[in-house]
Amino acid sequence: MPKRKPYTVTFWGTRGSIPTPGAHTARYGGNTPCVAVRSAGGDLAILDAGTGIRGLGMELVARDNGGVKAEILLSHAHWDHIQGLPHFRPFFAPGNRVRIWGPRQGMTSLEAILRQQMDPAVFPVPLDALSAKLTVRQVEAGTFTIGAFRVRAMQLRHPGTTLGYRLTPKAGGPSIAYITDNELGSGGAYGTAPTWRKDFVAFLRGVDLLIHDAMYGPAELEAHRGWGHSTFEEAVALAADARAERLVLFHHEPEHGDAAIDELLAEARRQARARGRPTEVLAAQEGMKLTL
Ligand SMILES: [Zn+2]
Ligand SMILES: [Zn+2]
Repeated sequence: MPKRKPYTVTFWGTRGSIPTPGAHTARYGGNTPCVAVRSAGGDLAILDAGTGIRGLGMELVARDNGGVKAEILLSHAHWDHIQGLPHFRPFFAPGNRVRIWGPRQGMTSLEAILRQQMDPAVFPVPLDALSAKLTVRQVEAGTFTIGAFRVRAMQLRHPGTTLGYRLTPKAGGPSIAYITDNELGSGGAYGTAPTWRKDFVAFLRGVDLLIHDAMYGPAELEAHRGWGHSTFEEAVALAADARAERLVLFHHEPEHGDAAIDELLAEARRQARARGRPTEVLAAQEGMKLTL
């Protein structure tokens, strides 16, 4: 049997809600969510377009300007997940091709949301004036294909329509789940079915790498029920229930400096050991690259 070639996952933005530059966040990072998945054959899927996508865009242009092919998959359109898009450099050279995938919000189409984000009132270059070829693909819960990856999407517990994605190489191999902005505990009503937790665990069953919202510690949760986010404890419990191999704590709370995240990670690891799963717990760090 031919040896399977690995693929990589790189974290360009790890922070929730708003960028937090500064010395106290230098290790885990201050840019808002953006994760790049590169298949063994070189296909690129980008998860969310927070401010972290700016650095990724610069790297893509340096490497292959005029020939960049990028697939951007948005979990939802909250500001922190699309904020970097207007500064995605591949937009500004002919020959580059960018496709943006994501859900609509209520009656507003994904394209209308992106158009409003670059309206002349708030940004100098409108969406129609980009040099690259841009395609917008509206998606909902279900299954579809992006480049080398088969994608399954599921509705999360968060205000608006927010999707979680599970990506598996079409050629087979380990899968990754990108689940951010998701309330595992009780709090908000998000129109999800009463069987949601069971369905969600089935959706994630046996995933190799689970990237999950872990914004709060337990003490902070009480003040934030209904905000659509989870604690690191809830993320560990979910990873254990779903028999996930590796868990990455993601969408860090803006008020948490590096020292606070160190503490939260140490406690998450203790809990994972006690449960026997997941095998490994990491906290997302800007620049971190994982191989699957
Ligand atoms: Zn967010
Ligand atoms: Zn959100």
